Amino acid sequence: MTEPAPVHLSQTQFLSLLAHELRAPLHSIHGYLDLALMGVGGELNVQQHEFVQRARMASQHLYALLEDLLCIARADSGQLHLQRTIADLSEIIDNAVEELALAAIDQGIVLRVAIEPQLPRLYVDAVRIQQVLRNLIHNAIYFTPAGGTVEITAHAERGALPESASSSDAEGDIAAVACVRVRDTGIGIAPEFHERIFERFYRVLDKNADHSGGQGLGLAIVKLLVELHEGRVMVESVVGEGSTFSCWIPGLLL
Ligand code: ADP
Repeated sequence: MTEPAPVHLSQTQFLSLLAHELRAPLHSIHGYLDLALMGVGGELNVQQHEFVQRARMASQHLYALLEDLLCIARADSGQLHLQRTIADLSEIIDNAVEELALAAIDQGIVLRVAIEPQLPRLYVDAVRIQQVLRNLIHNAIYFTPAGGTVEITAHAERGALPESASSSDAEGDIAAVACVRVRDTGIGIAPEFHERIFERFYRVLDKNADHSGGQGLGLAIVKLLVELHEGRVMVESVVGEGSTFSCWIPGLLL
């Protein structure tokens, strides 16, 4: 009998396979925790409710991490495509904020949202924009000491995207874009790192920080997804004062 030929997977294929395989059981864990939280199968007491809610939060974090890995794997194999629909940006922001509300409470951070009233809807991939916001808000919370504030704002702008935006029209047409900002009062980022933090696996080492941050993929994904929407992302930051990440996303339906 002949031995089956060994299967050689590229790193991208391996990541993709791993993320896919882990997604289904995680989805099921999610579902059952949701049922428990809804009280199906019996009312939970306050402490049980909190335990299950924390388990739900942890599985959600793992799910988000897998989504990030899959995103990178898909981008590398040219298979990352946007599923655009007409979406309400305030709903996307609310969903991302809701995902991280408990983490903010745990860290002693106040989360604020300020969205321009009657902000027009966007033609975007809502799941991907939520992933962008989740990554930015997650960072803002984890790099801000207790007592700090994280504010998410959104408004419409008319004009070319700042600097050499990847999507700006060659003719210099005026575009309608949504500008979403995540501002924190955290540790800040020194100017020499402002570009590098968007590279894959790049993390600024801070010997004073004890943050269980991620793997240095979050901002690389933010940039990837915003640019896939033909938008632009930028950071402004002052060490010791805080950071503001701004995303300009075209596709506003005026
Ligand atoms: P990580 O998984 O480490 O958060 P990211 O790609 O999201 O990776 O961020 C890269 C690095 O940029 C972080 O390790 C951190 O040093 C820095 N960084 C990102 N967001 C912030 C922020 N809001 N405040 C301070 N530093 C930040």
